[in-house]
Amino acid sequence: MAKKAAGKPESHEFQAEVSQLLNLMIHSLYSNKEIFMRELISNASDACDKLRFQALQDASLYGDDSELKIHISVDKKAKTITVSDNGIGMNHDEVVANIGTIAKSGTREFLQSLTGDQAKDTQLIGQFGVGFYSSFIVADKVTVLTRKAGDKKAVRWESEGSGTYTLENAERAGRGTDVILHLRKEEAELLDNWRVRSIIRKYSDHISLPIRMLKETTDEKDKKAEEPEWEQVNNTTALWARAKKDIKEEEYKEFYKAIAPDFQDPLAWTHNRVEGKHEYTTLLYIPSQAPFDLWDRDHVHGIKLYVKRVFIMDDSEQLMPKYLRFVRGLVDSNDLPLNVSREILQSNKLIDSIRSGSVKKILGLLETMAKDKPEDYKKFWQNFGVVLKEGPAEDFANKDQIAKLFMFHSTHENGGEPYVKLDEYIARMKEGQDKIYFITADSLSAARNSPHLEAFKKRGIEVLLMSDRIDEWMMQFLTEYDGKKFVSVSKGDLDLGALDSEEEKTHAKEVQEAAKDIVERIKKALADKVEDVRATTRLTDSPACVVLKENEMALHMQRLMKQAGHEVPAIKPVLEINPTHDLIKRIEAEKDDNVLADWAGLLLDQAIVAEGGQLENPAEFVKKLNKLLLT
Ligand code: ADP
Ligand code: MG
Repeated sequence: MAKKAAGKPESHEFQAEVSQLLNLMIHSLYSNKEIFMRELISNASDACDKLRFQALQDASLYGDDSELKIHISVDKKAKTITVSDNGIGMNHDEVVANIGTIAKSGTREFLQSLTGDQAKDTQLIGQFGVGFYSSFIVADKVTVLTRKAGDKKAVRWESEGSGTYTLENAERAGRGTDVILHLRKEEAELLDNWRVRSIIRKYSDHISLPIRMLKETTDEKDKKAEEPEWEQVNNTTALWARAKKDIKEEEYKEFYKAIAPDFQDPLAWTHNRVEGKHEYTTLLYIPSQAPFDLWDRDHVHGIKLYVKRVFIMDDSEQLMPKYLRFVRGLVDSNDLPLNVSREILQSNKLIDSIRSGSVKKILGLLETMAKDKPEDYKKFWQNFGVVLKEGPAEDFANKDQIAKLFMFHSTHENGGEPYVKLDEYIARMKEGQDKIYFITADSLSAARNSPHLEAFKKRGIEVLLMSDRIDEWMMQFLTEYDGKKFVSVSKGDLDLGALDSEEEKTHAKEVQEAAKDIVERIKKALADKVEDVRATTRLTDSPACVVLKENEMALHMQRLMKQAGHEVPAIKPVLEINPTHDLIKRIEAEKDDNVLADWAGLLLDQAIVAEGGQLENPAEFVKKLNKLLLT
């Protein structure tokens, strides 16, 4: 990889992914080319944060240069823009590791998730945070001159972004990093001081370090004679430390894009200062789209922790539960020590209280959004609803507030509104109804067409239709809402209680009486396959259905679990038959017990199939079916 010749710079090749990413980025981000400035400022600011953090242990790292700052200059003659910082700097190996490779674990997944559709890929890149490499959007050569705090030697890295870079030893007056962009010919407009200044302003008003630009002198001779004069460009009060009323909507949005990172505006945010026993500030955002690694439950990386405005760490998973892992933003505490470690965060009362305060804020924000901006909320739900559904299991204390935010399909919908909230369901409940009915299935259409719904349709009772994979699991934790029990319509005894009139109850008893014989015969035929056989009035159009016990896993889930290689304990369902159905009448008329056994087997199998379950022996089912079709 590295070729070293005496006195000559070493030449390296980029990791394959880097070249691929560079190409893609230059082409797809061009319309957004100014973001290179945001990325370089953010790196310079990170480098200063790192130095400040390390200097807590070893103040000598500051040397005689303790004012951390970022300097940006434009050189019209050389056609360069230089971004300099006096932060932590890098040594030879760090340059190779940080700039010659993409050290982030998500890189490969990211590249795999690219679609080839430019608009979509641009969004992905924005979320991924391309960082340093965005320099190549406007530069055809980039030089990095860097010296690590505490080191004597500096390193010069240089690349034209075409697959290789060089490294050599160099000199630099003090610690820190210069990133020198040799602008492409077409980018001459960026050599204008006012243009650069306005780009800096756009991306840096939340940066708490001073960012300065070299004052422009028209006379070249003057420049040499005088000390260079630097002018501050940004407003260094951290955005979140300013009063809410002084922060413009645009500023909140720009700040979000800088920290998320994301190209799109956030859907909503909440900014709070808590005073009293503990003092802290939170600024939390809901993104408008799901990042590509949202499904990775272990990749929690939304919240940054600051202590008294000083950046401490990213990814503080202690600050937000997993079911809210889509939230981006920061927490700034006045009470934690600056040298707080991840270990300390894990068992810290203050962190626990900040976390539960933040959760309340987010749930409140979502509730308001659902009420006042239903279109935004729908977007939120489509992106993050499935993650929020992890809530009842993870956060028992807030179960009701979380469930209030859920949206479901239901038998009630007709065309227009596809989503139903629990409060709406309850408001529509029938006289005498005291339970919330739901069904889980493989797909929405399987749920909608389940035979279990027939009794509910007949009585005009709404049933929630659940077809996300997580639903079956979630409902084990969500057993009640607003004092009303959830009841699966495909499990347990169907007791519609007060919903049925006395006449209907007598009718049901009569039906059961009349069906005693056929029930016994079918039970005998299926003795080793079912727990029980019952006559039911829950069906109108179907001849039979299977019913599980309340704590048993739905058949479609059992099938999925088996397919995924899990052991699933064998369970015997209850078969319920509809004695008023012509098919049952036909079976009843069958004299030959062997033929009846075939019919009974067929009834059971088709009820299992209708439920999304797996037949033990599909070939047997087809054989039985064909035999009976020919009689
Ligand atoms: P990110 O900032 O998300 O880590 P970047 O591509 O922006 O990704 O930067 C890659 C890495 O290069 C940084 O994590 C940091 O280690 C290093 N780096 C970049 N710029 C600087 C700088 N000005 N000073 C010190 N290190 C830097
Ligand atoms: Mg960066």
